[in-house]
Amino acid sequence: MNGQNKRINPSGPPPSRPRRRFSMLWIYALLLALLFVPSLFNIGFSGKEITWQQFENDIISRKAVEKIVIVNNEKADIYIKNEFANDPYFKDVLKRSTGPHYFFNIGSVESFERKLDEAQKNFPANEKIIVSYVKKSNWFWTIMSWVLPFIVLFALWNFLLRRSGAMGAGGGGSSIFNFGKTTATLVEKEKSSVTFNDVAGLEEAEMEVREVVDFLKNPGSFTKLGAKIPKGVILVGPPGTGKTLLAKAVAGEAQVPFFSISGSEFVEMFVGVGASRVRDLFRRAKEKAPCIIFIDEIDAIGRSRGKGAFLGGANDERESTLNQLLTEMDGFGTNSGVIVLAATNRADMLDPALLRPGRFDRHIYLELPNLTEREEIFKVHLRPLVIDETIDVHFLASQTPGFSGADIANICNESALIAARKKKEKVGRQDFLDAIDRIVAGIEKKSKIISPEEKKTIAYHEAGHAVVSWLLKHIDPIIKVSIIPRGKSLGAAWYLPEEKQLRSESAFAEHLCATLGGRASEEIIFGEVSSGALDDLEKVTKEAYMMVVYYGFNKKIGNISYYDSSGQRDMGIQKPFSEETGRLIDEEVRKLVDSAYQKAKAILQENKESLIKIAELLLKKEVIFKEDIESILGRRPDDKATAETKSKIVPAITQQN
Ligand code: ATP
Repeated sequence: MNGQNKRINPSGPPPSRPRRRFSMLWIYALLLALLFVPSLFNIGFSGKEITWQQFENDIISRKAVEKIVIVNNEKADIYIKNEFANDPYFKDVLKRSTGPHYFFNIGSVESFERKLDEAQKNFPANEKIIVSYVKKSNWFWTIMSWVLPFIVLFALWNFLLRRSGAMGAGGGGSSIFNFGKTTATLVEKEKSSVTFNDVAGLEEAEMEVREVVDFLKNPGSFTKLGAKIPKGVILVGPPGTGKTLLAKAVAGEAQVPFFSISGSEFVEMFVGVGASRVRDLFRRAKEKAPCIIFIDEIDAIGRSRGKGAFLGGANDERESTLNQLLTEMDGFGTNSGVIVLAATNRADMLDPALLRPGRFDRHIYLELPNLTEREEIFKVHLRPLVIDETIDVHFLASQTPGFSGADIANICNESALIAARKKKEKVGRQDFLDAIDRIVAGIEKKSKIISPEEKKTIAYHEAGHAVVSWLLKHIDPIIKVSIIPRGKSLGAAWYLPEEKQLRSESAFAEHLCATLGGRASEEIIFGEVSSGALDDLEKVTKEAYMMVVYYGFNKKIGNISYYDSSGQRDMGIQKPFSEETGRLIDEEVRKLVDSAYQKAKAILQENKESLIKIAELLLKKEVIFKEDIESILGRRPDDKATAETKSKIVPAITQQN
């Protein structure tokens, strides 16, 4: 979110805050005064402290003591006879109080009594000082010992309250008093700067949402004909395909306020909070109507009710939040001017009640962009960059199949960072290619310590992938092989796959074969395999299971698919097939993988010389390109990626470890 957005403060601006702070200051000042005033004004003067020597030499010797009171067996309070009021030594203390006039700590009662007896051993019996013993408690500190913990607790509570209050001011409902208030971010109409100009390549989706914009701008032209505008529009698509962007653009174009909230922000630990937040959001939206409410990741609250109940029970809070959302969407009329846009990656998980007409009745599906759409998106994100003449937008789009709009935005930014690091004036084509490599395979880790033996294994592993891929006609054209470690991988092969909607059974089988090419090469050259093929084996196993269990490619299993598009069944827990079928599936998967491995080994045995040449070249150059492989293996059997035809295909990059 940019700096233009602001958080809703559900309780409104806090005008009383300075005054409250002022009154709190008074309370603190009063408490301090209570603590210190008694000592400031000598309230409760309890005598002047003296030592035993002073007491013995100056007071006992003068026979001025009226009495001694031993308090709590700790302190001796000394009272002076009134007749000494004119004695300059006592004048001062006698004026200040009626006693005690002096005090000192006695140590222990025994030693005090001993010393006192000693000091007045020559006194006649009737002149001996009267000593009494009392137990006293200090009322002030007694009260304080009770009150102080409360004061500390109160101050702490007040402090925490203010802190959460301060967060609440910026974070909506994070104050405890705002717990049930919405945490939605509000972008005022004059502040929403995103328009359809910033959205590229989503033509169909854009057309559908334009209707919403038209309604918000000019509702009369629809309502006079008796038309009802959809209350809710749900945007479905993979991450980063521009769902949020499209919703923002609708608000920006329609020039209406935009409430944005994520589905997960409704759900709290306490049941009822989410529902209360939904109510509050709709209440505020109605106040601001016409406006748009955008709920991102709506699946956090909109998941089918009752699903997953066997896994620890239904989620009461989520369900009550969803019920409230359904009620609110029923509650406002079609012409109330509030339109709810929602986004999700998983429409199949949503409760059918949410998707029925009258609620989210319009569904817009966003896909990953194709070549032309990627070109459009690149154009949008190249606008702020300073680029040189080497940049060809079509080429960039052709290098980024399978990338989402968000990935493209990231590449543009990353390439500018790379160019800046190289201290260049303008961003060039190579910076973009480096950015793509970095995003696809991670950052190069040239400093990673790899022994010469390991390097050799990696080179032969990657060469194995390259040779098998090159010689199988259904495998996408290889463009580059590298043994420079990147991200988590030690080496990688880049492909330019055709962007196809359908893949044949033989394409699947050949893909298994190419993926196992690395391990097969290790076995042929070194006689044993390494742990470097973990990623390959994982991919192969998953793909082989998909072939058998989902796509019905296996004769023995037949035309049966255990795929569940509704996402309701967790295959790990609930198998939709019998034990016997399960065993058969395992067997067939094993056979499939074994035959792919044997085929890969056969190809490599046949082309062992080329395999060695490619591996040695890799060890020498670290990165080799299509042309290097072509010079060793000759043209591909069905070369679709020759320079002439390259522009016609829609390529993609994949990576194999
Ligand atoms: P998610 O499902 O993960 O929330 P999303 O579909 O909501 O993702 P956005 O947040 O809209 O994705 O996109 C992220 C960023 O990607 C945008 O801010 C924008 O820069 C860029 N982007 C995505 N799609 C497009 C597009 N069609 N045109 C231009 N930019 C795009």
